[in-house]
Amino acid sequence: MVKVIDGRRLAEGLRPNLLRRGQAVAERRGAPPGLAVILVGNDPASAVYVRNKIRACEAVGIRSACLRFPESIGNADLLETIANLNADPGIDGILVQLPLPAHIRLDQVLEAISVQKDVDGFHLYNVGGLVTGNTIFSPCTPYGVVKLLESENIPIEGQNVVVVGASNIVGKPMALMLMARGATVAICHAKTRDLAQFTILADILVVAAGVPNLIIGQMVKTGAVVIDVGINRLADGCITGDVDFNGVSAKASRITPVPGGVGPMTVTMLLENTIASAERALAHQQSHAAPDIPQFQRA
Ligand code: NAD
Repeated sequence: MVKVIDGRRLAEGLRPNLLRRGQAVAERRGAPPGLAVILVGNDPASAVYVRNKIRACEAVGIRSACLRFPESIGNADLLETIANLNADPGIDGILVQLPLPAHIRLDQVLEAISVQKDVDGFHLYNVGGLVTGNTIFSPCTPYGVVKLLESENIPIEGQNVVVVGASNIVGKPMALMLMARGATVAICHAKTRDLAQFTILADILVVAAGVPNLIIGQMVKTGAVVIDVGINRLADGCITGDVDFNGVSAKASRITPVPGGVGPMTVTMLLENTIASAERALAHQQSHAAPDIPQFQRA
């Protein structure tokens, strides 16, 4: 009998501790942890994600500000905004909601964010840190999946993991984080021939492709743990994942639903990263030491 992993409940369970930590920061430095969210353009899905993040911040005492800009904003103006936020001691985390309009240089924007405030974990330094094992911030979605597996006491070490999807923000960091915890990891993507020959080997199958019903029951090993990261909006407005929930539930030992699985954990890891950033800033302030993290500047 499959167990459906309730990501909402797990996420809610982590929040009281985040609230306590946020309050402790506020008491010790006289200001709560602060998050700045930059939203460019009018993408309705992005607006919903940002609203959820702001609401979640309020629930754990993080002071958040949403900076909205029109689609037409120039690269230089966006970089200047980020530079100002980097210099603002009340801001512990800076998040640029993706996707950005095509005329904006995504690489420049992500690298402009101070490494110490890169709570999305997309700066090259943090991406590199995932490879070498000394990252400051882990990207929120794969971090949320790891926390979800840990909260459910699902062993990772020695397990065969297959990650379907190889994006910079989900698939690749997911694979690195699980490999760092001792899993044997295969990454599949849109060019993979015969996806099922890989997925059938997985003890833990993480799917982040953005393709509804990509994974069906025959592709899954009996007893596998199936984590569905996908969020797809169907023509009728319903939200669905990448996994055929009913068919796969007949084979899996555990499965995450969409919605209510990985999504709430992703948001909670953003809160975790922001509060951890504030704690780190406070510790540096109290030790009067400069943070031992390089500053990046584009030539
Ligand atoms: P992306 O489009 O950047 O990457 C998709 C990846 O899937 C690519 O590597 C592509 O090669 C691969 N892929 C596409 N079709 C495939 C196929 N038929 N077989 C195998 N691989 C295939 O997407 P992303 O940003 O990584 O997001 C993936 C999904 O996860 C989306 O549905 C997105 O909405 C969702 N998402 C959810 C959360 C969350 O918190 N739950 C967070 C981020 C993204």
